Amino acid sequence: NDPLPRPARTRVMVVANQKGGVGKTTTTVNLAAALAMHGLRVLVVDLDPQGNASTALGVEHHRGVASSYDVLVDGATIEEVVQQHPDIESLYVVPATIDLAGAEIELVSVVARESRLRKALAAYNRIGDGEENRLDYVFIDCPPSLGLLTLNALVAGVEMLIPIQAEYYALEGLGQLVETIEMVKAHLNHELTISTILVTMYDARTNLAAGVAEEVRSHFRDQVLHTTIPRSVRVSEAPSYGQTVMTYDPGSPGALSYLEAARELAVRGTWA
Ligand code: ADP
Ligand code: MG
Repeated sequence: NDPLPRPARTRVMVVANQKGGVGKTTTTVNLAAALAMHGLRVLVVDLDPQGNASTALGVEHHRGVASSYDVLVDGATIEEVVQQHPDIESLYVVPATIDLAGAEIELVSVVARESRLRKALAAYNRIGDGEENRLDYVFIDCPPSLGLLTLNALVAGVEMLIPIQAEYYALEGLGQLVETIEMVKAHLNHELTISTILVTMYDARTNLAAGVAEEVRSHFRDQVLHTTIPRSVRVSEAPSYGQTVMTYDPGSPGALSYLEAARELAVRGTWA
């Protein structure tokens, strides 16, 4: 198990796709765990009121726990709300609670409402300032919508990571996502770029999956990781044990694929 290379600067990855159930949360927690298990410092920000990433990462997130809601709506610092993963030392989590469901509306009247997360992350990453304290990766797990929560992520991030489920209509709705990204890029965050596409829930036995993967590659080309994530029951079981598949069953095909995807992401560096 070779250590994975540290990026020259913190890579802030926004995991978004307004479609639900395509593997955003699964991809977020497993890539984050894989990178952290290989010595990198990783922060996951859960921006989905469902709190599925918080569940899979085994951190507390019942109503009232300090969370991403406090950062976005009340101006809390990340330091005040962050939790350490119970098993993986260099993995940190900003949990999401159900309170976040109201944030979409509460944020409307907040000053600079779309850049709350960006400011908080910038302040957090300056703490200590030393090379070894700097975060290597931040993953922001977005809800399945293009509202103010996802907008906060798009303004805070540099790289977009879009999981695409290998099924019918996989590319449907991506036009709208790309338009939103272009809008944010033009007006709010010039740095934003679609760096990474990951094909998830790939079923190698079907022609359909192969066809969809082909279509995704011809559309997004070099942005698509060579690694695809197979559909695997171990991946979907892990969250019910408060775990990622990386810790739940490290030798399973899903875990090995996420490790391979993490390696690819780390080795090829920032897409420019
Ligand atoms: P999203 O965050 O985009 O809504 P999730 O990551 O929650 O999507 O995935 C949706 C469902 O599919 C979850 O029940 C999850 O456990 C399951 N799932 C995701 N990836 C896989 C996979 N590779 N194999 C099997 N089930 C998966
Ligand atoms: Mg999710």
